[in-house]
Amino acid sequence: MANTVIQANKETIEKMKGHYKNVLTDKLPPGAVFVAKPSGCTITAYKSGKVLFQGSNGEGESSQWGKVEPPKVKSPSKGTTTLPENFADWSVIGSDEVGTGDFFGPITVVSAYVKREHLPLMKELGVKDSKNLSDSQIIKIARDLIAAIPYSLLILHNPKYNAMQAKGMTQGKMKALLHNQAILNLLEKMAPELPEGILIDQFVEKNTYYKHISAQKKIQRDRVYFSTKGESIHLAVAAASIIARYAFLKEMDKLSEKAGVEIPKGAGKHVDVAAAKIIKRKGIEELKSMTKWHFANSEKAIKLAGK
Ligand code: MG
Repeated sequence: MANTVIQANKETIEKMKGHYKNVLTDKLPPGAVFVAKPSGCTITAYKSGKVLFQGSNGEGESSQWGKVEPPKVKSPSKGTTTLPENFADWSVIGSDEVGTGDFFGPITVVSAYVKREHLPLMKELGVKDSKNLSDSQIIKIARDLIAAIPYSLLILHNPKYNAMQAKGMTQGKMKALLHNQAILNLLEKMAPELPEGILIDQFVEKNTYYKHISAQKKIQRDRVYFSTKGESIHLAVAAASIIARYAFLKEMDKLSEKAGVEIPKGAGKHVDVAAAKIIKRKGIEELKSMTKWHFANSEKAIKLAGK
C-alpha cells in the first residue's frame, strides 16, 4: 500500500482536524498534531506540516487537501565517492578499525585483500557484517580468514594512544594514519599484485582523511574509495572488520590477565566498575596503561575507587 504525503500549512491542518473530528484517535506519535482514521485510511498530521495518508483510500483522502509531495531523491552525502558499478564483485582491499569506542584496549586496524576468486570462499566461511556475529563466531571465522587471505594488522596500544591524544591528536587523525599505513603495508606484501579497488569504511569525509595524513611520506590515493557501511558493500571490509575484532579480543584477553579482572568492552557503567577495581588492586598508572585515558570513564572510576 502506497503512502501519500502532502505538505500543508497550519490553517489547512486545523481545517483537516475539524473535518475529521469524529474519527480522531488519542494516541499520537511524537511530533504529531492529530491522527485520524476515516474508513480505509490513517492520517497523521505533523507539526512540521507533513501529513501522511496510509491505507487503501489514502490517495482518495489526500487528494482533497493538497498537492502530493514528490518522493525525495537521496543525494549521496558530501565527500562520499560514488562506487563503480559491480564494485562488490571486484578484487578489493577493505580496511576497517575496531576499539575506538571502548575505554579499555587498543585500536586495531586491518586491511584485508579479497580478490574476485575468493568471494565464494568468504561466503562459505561465513564472512558478513561483524556486528551480527558473536565473539565466538568472530574467532572461528577470523582464524580461517587469517590462513586464507593476505592482510595487514596494526595495533595502537594504549600508552602510545594516550601520548598521541595528549599532544592534541584526534581519534580521527589516528585512524586515518593507521588506515593509510595498513593499506601501504598490505600493498607491499601483495606486490606486484594490485587490487582493483581499496575501500575504507568511512569514518570521516574524504578531504579530511587526506588532510589528516598530508604530512606522511607515502600516501595511498590510487584506487581508494570511501563508503559508510563498507561491510555491506564489499566482503573485503567485512573480512577486515572480523580480523580487527579478533585482534581486539585477543588484546582484551591479554589485558584481563594483566589486570586480574575480566575487562569489559564498551564505555558504560560496568566499565567504570571494572576500572575502579583495577585502581584499587594495581593503581591509577596501571589502569591508564590499558585504557583510552581521555574518556570520561577514567574520572568516574577514580571517584568510584575513592582515590
Ligand atoms: Mg568501521
